[in-house]
Amino acid sequence: MVLGYALFGQDNDSEMFNELDVLVKPSKCDGCGYRTEYQQINNLFKIKRKSFDLSYTYDGIAIASLRFKEFCNRNNYNNILFKELEGNLGFYQIIVHDKLIPFTANLVEEFCDKCSQYRTVVDYKVDTERIIGPLQDGFYRSDLLFGGRMGKHDSPLHPIIVVAPLTKEKMRKEKLKGLTFESF
Ligand SMILES: [Zn+2]
Repeated sequence: MVLGYALFGQDNDSEMFNELDVLVKPSKCDGCGYRTEYQQINNLFKIKRKSFDLSYTYDGIAIASLRFKEFCNRNNYNNILFKELEGNLGFYQIIVHDKLIPFTANLVEEFCDKCSQYRTVVDYKVDTERIIGPLQDGFYRSDLLFGGRMGKHDSPLHPIIVVAPLTKEKMRKEKLKGLTFESF
């Protein structure tokens, strides 16, 4: 029995923060030097590939389209924050708050005492023992933050978005573009 789905999007060939185009620097830990805030926005950000309803920047920031937002409004999925992205009409940073799903990571490396975050948290697993029956219609997110905070794109750790089986079915009918689902 499928309990729910981890939801991913396509890459949109853009970076929320890059060296050239910033008014505000991304907040970084002065211990490890890596980024700490996935919710932070760069006001000069420009999305390059606009063909997807859900996409990710190279530095791991989830971006939704207006269609995606309207779909969520119509279905009363109200634990999602759509942050306006100045200069990117019809696109929003998407942040799911509350409704946490228990996750574990099979690979965790280099804890930093200063920001209390790991450098690497990858290879996710959902702790299905702690979930009773299929999730109810709606959006959820992992209780852990995932990602690798090193390399070219300097991405902050960020949560994995989760949806219920019924929600996945509704999204499929809506023909939202660029969505990938992994069942658990
Ligand atoms: Zn740190």
